[in-house]
Amino acid sequence: MNNSSTATPAAFPLTIHPHWRAAAEAKGFGILQRVKDRYHLLLSCHTCRRTHASKIFVLMNSQPQCPHCIQDRWQADAEAAGLQWAGRDPQSRHHSFYIANCGHRLRRQFELIKRAAAGICDVRCELCQQQKEQEEAEAQGWELIGTDPDGNQNYRLYRHPECGHEQRVARANMQTGRFGCGLCGEDWPAAPSHLYAMQFKLPNGTCLVKLGFSRNPDSRLRHQLLKHRDLDAKILKTVPMATGQLALQAEKRLHAKLQAGFPDQIAPPELYSDALRVRSEVYFAGAAQVIFAMLDAIKAEEDS
Ligand SMILES: [Zn+2]
Ligand SMILES: [Zn+2]
Ligand SMILES: [Zn+2]
Repeated sequence: MNNSSTATPAAFPLTIHPHWRAAAEAKGFGILQRVKDRYHLLLSCHTCRRTHASKIFVLMNSQPQCPHCIQDRWQADAEAAGLQWAGRDPQSRHHSFYIANCGHRLRRQFELIKRAAAGICDVRCELCQQQKEQEEAEAQGWELIGTDPDGNQNYRLYRHPECGHEQRVARANMQTGRFGCGLCGEDWPAAPSHLYAMQFKLPNGTCLVKLGFSRNPDSRLRHQLLKHRDLDAKILKTVPMATGQLALQAEKRLHAKLQAGFPDQIAPPELYSDALRVRSEVYFAGAAQVIFAMLDAIKAEEDS
């Protein structure tokens, strides 16, 4: 200890030795003062100009890490990976939180984000991914249930609402529709089909119209849609279609038009969930004339 340290009222010495300064400079830092206790120095980072307290031992024996620069790197990595850094995970020193472009919050390893920033891998939002796959399935008239029970990464488990059948299908085949339902048809996309409009009168007197497609609308109505046999229901109109695939595409187009043009005619599912085994594509009777006109137009196209 030298004289200057004994002359001060501080609880620890304030002397900064020249060889400490030399070591700090060589490692990218300046020394501002001694802090906390006799083991710590306040360092100023030459890169970011911000300060942090470092142990003298660390300065002399290894490379001090500027915590601000580290955080800047995490943020830069996140941005390069298309994310926004949202803080460390207090549970794990290897993980951080990130906000994806979709707005969902992801928890990921720093290492993975570094690789993504370098373009080596992708960061996918599992919530959005699931929604995307659900939409792919719905576009083919199926529902996504979950991962493949046999554990194949390329397969998923799906349900065919038309008949209730559950089946493993390769996701690529679901995207292109190159498969058939194991229960209700080897080849529904290629087999002849129908568009239909059906009417249901609920016990409370509300009249609803369902627009859909089926190989056999009558059987669909009698055996699949009704939860109770005695519900007042009938087929109002059918249009034969050359294939199930064409019927599906036409049906999707009509629903999109109805949803865009007549949103107030969409019947809320809770209105009919006790009566019908469907969750959407049901309209109030006020939409019936529009639906008939759409079906007539498609019939005219098919006939021409
Ligand atoms: Zn720094
Ligand atoms: Zn997302
Ligand atoms: Zn089926």
